[in-house]
Amino acid sequence: MKTGTPPLIVGNWKMNPQSKTLAVSLAKEMKKCFAKCDGVDVVIAPPFVYLEGVFSVRNSSRAFFMGAQNVHHEKLGPHTGEISLPMLKEYEVSHVILGHSERRAAGETDAMVNQKLIAVIKAGLTGIICVGEVKRDSHGHYLSHIEAQIRKGLATVSKSKLGQVVIAYEPIWAIGTGVNATAEDVHEMKLFIEKVVSDLYGRNLAQKVRIIYGGSVNAKNAEELYKEGTVDGFLVGGASLRADEFLHIIKSVQGK
Ligand code: PEP
Repeated sequence: MKTGTPPLIVGNWKMNPQSKTLAVSLAKEMKKCFAKCDGVDVVIAPPFVYLEGVFSVRNSSRAFFMGAQNVHHEKLGPHTGEISLPMLKEYEVSHVILGHSERRAAGETDAMVNQKLIAVIKAGLTGIICVGEVKRDSHGHYLSHIEAQIRKGLATVSKSKLGQVVIAYEPIWAIGTGVNATAEDVHEMKLFIEKVVSDLYGRNLAQKVRIIYGGSVNAKNAEELYKEGTVDGFLVGGASLRADEFLHIIKSVQGK
């Protein structure tokens, strides 16, 4: 964990659950649990249509931060099917996931991720950029791929705004597969990402960027991945849909 910055746990609900009623009851369960989650920044990123329901559950409790899974870089206009930052701000969204591999697979490019990150930062929110390789190779080409994703994603982001950037290392082979990266893999990648950001901004400023891991994190592996992986938190998909499991993950990083 970075000095003075609480660990960050982000729940990406993706296209779940199946109804607003279920989303609201999941949010209620989580709100109850999170009352005891001091010292951890917890973000819930529901589908857009559930933002209002989840927001009304959270109400003034501030038990968790509101998150979004995507955004359009323009404020308004002819962009069918898109959602803007001012719309997200209506529900106090503070964190936006950008460039998730499932969106990249649907055509989102590094340039689009960068454009969105710039808009997110300008609006005063935090952008969580997802990077990760499809598979690993013995020549280390996957490292160049990740470095390029970071360099292109962060293009023109000024030094003073680095506190609004989170990088989520999410190897695609580990997402939703039940096969997580080992703590050693995660630690290595954390150091690598830190080096890439340090090369761009200098060592001290690079410390402002939180680096988290995502890919089949669960109640059983979270503690080891956090401690030995030395990351600043997790981006959690499947396990964020079960309040008890998600709470366990949060507890694994609390006070550590
Ligand atoms: C994700 O989709 O960002 C993710 C990490 O999913 P899961 O935890 O289910 O692997």
